Amino acid sequence: MLTRISHRSKILCNAYSTVSRPLDPWNSLISSDTRINQYGDRILSGTTYIAKDNIVTKDGVTTSASHMLSNYHSPFNATVIELLADNGSSLIGKSNLDEFGMGSSTTNTYYGPTINPQDNDEKRISGGSSGGSAAAVAAGLATFSLGTDTGGSIRLPASYCGVIGLKPTYGRISRWGVVPYAQTLDTVGIIGKDVDVIEKVYETLNKYDKKDPTSMTTKVRSLVRNTFDEKLIIGIPEEFIIEELDESTKEQWLHYINGLKSLGHDFKVVSIPSIKKSLSTYYTLATAEAASNLSRYDGVRYGFTEDEIQPSASDLITSNRSDSLGLEVQRRIILGNYTLSSVSGDHYLRATKVRQELVNEFNDVFKLPHVLLEDIEKVKSNKCDLLISPTSMGKPPTIKEYTENNDKNFLNSYLNDILTVPSSLAGLPSISVPMKDGSGLQLMSQYGDDELLFRITRQLL
Ligand code: GLN
Repeated sequence: MLTRISHRSKILCNAYSTVSRPLDPWNSLISSDTRINQYGDRILSGTTYIAKDNIVTKDGVTTSASHMLSNYHSPFNATVIELLADNGSSLIGKSNLDEFGMGSSTTNTYYGPTINPQDNDEKRISGGSSGGSAAAVAAGLATFSLGTDTGGSIRLPASYCGVIGLKPTYGRISRWGVVPYAQTLDTVGIIGKDVDVIEKVYETLNKYDKKDPTSMTTKVRSLVRNTFDEKLIIGIPEEFIIEELDESTKEQWLHYINGLKSLGHDFKVVSIPSIKKSLSTYYTLATAEAASNLSRYDGVRYGFTEDEIQPSASDLITSNRSDSLGLEVQRRIILGNYTLSSVSGDHYLRATKVRQELVNEFNDVFKLPHVLLEDIEKVKSNKCDLLISPTSMGKPPTIKEYTENNDKNFLNSYLNDILTVPSSLAGLPSISVPMKDGSGLQLMSQYGDDELLFRITRQLL
């Protein structure tokens, strides 16, 4: 049984390697939930999906693409898995990711990189960390997939693989049963080719969950307002107009802006100065939270354990962690522990202050009030309904280019997140829609105004 399960993980984790195989064997490797056959007419009946392998499922293993968890069987299903089963969707596999969600390429994984199915000749990265989920949908293996997005992990791979990726408002979708990376930022989101399907899945998952202490409460859900105006004011944050953008991505961005203008929407350039500090703020906060979260993996209670007898308990834990956590994960633990230690000064607190400034600056450009921050009757005139930027700097690099660049300096790979981390830090809903040059267009709306993103995406396609 174990061999079969790890075989399945291996196949599905490299989403691309599954493309040329028939679907049947994969379906048969996952035991289906009996509830699926009980009703015929539920909102997601007839759909199939793949879940990122950091979302726990009772069937099979949940590895987070880590050697540490390669033998981990969850005793329960994540809330999102239960909700999808209740609504008629069939889970057909678990997908590859950067270990514990740390990365932007799906190359930092125990199961080997996920190759982008968009380009068969040159082996390009699929983006990360939900690269397996995006590649699987791009290759037509399932109707949709679930990913997680902490700082861009749904939007970047969606952009690189030419599919749509939604990161909802922080707290909208339950994270009960999601292996935590950085819990003040982690969200579960949806990847698909069809915006109607994504919206249906979103409606299914958009529920308060008492098991998740960060779940948006029923009261807040009833207070959040949506944009219903036909003609929108769309803001272009000047901090996103950066030199590093590929010419073709700039052109495409402009092309879509002109397309939306011709539909009657207005545009204005806005400034959100703290966007410039987002990347350093994100990596300070995310690594600190990760270091704390990942301290649970000692290989004693569960997870990878050394065969050799060790002289002491601490030697055992050290050797379990050193041998089974990947290099990028170890780097983040070291960075995070440094941030949390007294020698770093007050790095963590300073980063939280910058984050608050960023939240306020984002809020200042939106017309709708932020339900958690201000009077909900307050509508600010002449402000924006939506913000627009590219999702990535250009099309995906080849695996070789990416690895060489990362080997030169690991910070180079962190630069990929420059366009996606700002809305993650602010907890705002964001969607990536494919552009023709192999990158994506990112749309961001006010806290809680997720529905506007579906409407605008329909106008773009
Ligand atoms: N690339 C970012 C990181 O490594 C974002 C990852 C994510 O959203 N899970 O932290």
